[in-house]
Amino acid sequence: MADPAGSAPAPTDTNLEVRELAHRYGDRIALAGVSLSVAEGEIVGLVGRNGAGKTTLMRSIMGIVSPDAGSVTWRGATVGLPQRRRFGYMPEERGLYAQMQIAAQLRYLARLHGLDKAGADRAARSWLERLGLAERAEEKLIALSHGNQQRVQLAAALVHEPELLVLDEPFAGLDPEAVDALSEILRAQVQAGTAILFSSHQLELVQRICDRVVVLDRGRVLGAGTLAQLREQFPAQLRVRVATAQPWAAELSGVRVTRVDEDGTLLVVEPGIDIQAVLRAAQTAGPVEHFGFETAGLIDLYRQLLVP
Ligand code: ATP
Repeated sequence: MADPAGSAPAPTDTNLEVRELAHRYGDRIALAGVSLSVAEGEIVGLVGRNGAGKTTLMRSIMGIVSPDAGSVTWRGATVGLPQRRRFGYMPEERGLYAQMQIAAQLRYLARLHGLDKAGADRAARSWLERLGLAERAEEKLIALSHGNQQRVQLAAALVHEPELLVLDEPFAGLDPEAVDALSEILRAQVQAGTAILFSSHQLELVQRICDRVVVLDRGRVLGAGTLAQLREQFPAQLRVRVATAQPWAAELSGVRVTRVDEDGTLLVVEPGIDIQAVLRAAQTAGPVEHFGFETAGLIDLYRQLLVP
């Protein structure tokens, strides 16, 4: 994730603006007032546990769900059909025709978005080429592996050169090579000015490719910003590895154990706590093999945000 020092202000060249979006299915609240933005040339990752509201949010942006309250604007205008024609969408349930040839589907989708016959043909061929599927252009979608079907889904979202890409778990089920290929394509799109919002449960990947991240939980935004901005909300974590099988830190005051794994014990230390006292406690427990502050990754921040 781009990680500028300090807390950068919210982008001013915002293209997509979601404000106080709320939606319920019967009694179940899916969105409880979600606001977020995506600027031109920015890639924003949407993360959160199952049922957090990610798909509902994306469907609301795409007009598949009509939210009960709130607004979605694109470059200042309320999003309707003319705006959505310039959006590309990869739905969670995927949505292509299993029995149709893949090049024909892409041409069809491109034409739906307003490209002429020659332009649609060119765009379909070019995307299949870029996604390594040129040789399979005449095959039916169903004949492709899951990962390759996913690539076609991405091509379908991109074939009309959208200004905004909304991708619901585009990396799910892909092998590492396909993940790399797709990441590269998204980065290239962003560099060309496309705004991208995508959801994923693969937090390392989100950290690697996103400019900003939005953490949703129970239909609310728990945290949003660059990694640096999210880190500012939490105290630094101390990693200590002591050659002992005994728990040694649980009883220390002003210290909270957040994780114990093969790399040692991860601790959050309250401001003002004497770090030397923590070191002495570790030394009393056994030989100290590692003692140092750590830069939190998205996984750590996510866990801390989700602490009840
Ligand atoms: P996941 O990570 O599992 O895909 P999500 O973050 O995308 O989850 P949503 O699919 O938006 O979450 O679901 C938000 C809430 O709305 C959940 O409680 C879910 O059960 C509920 N929900 C979603 N779609 C429907 C529907 N069509 N009818 C009733 N409830 C729904």
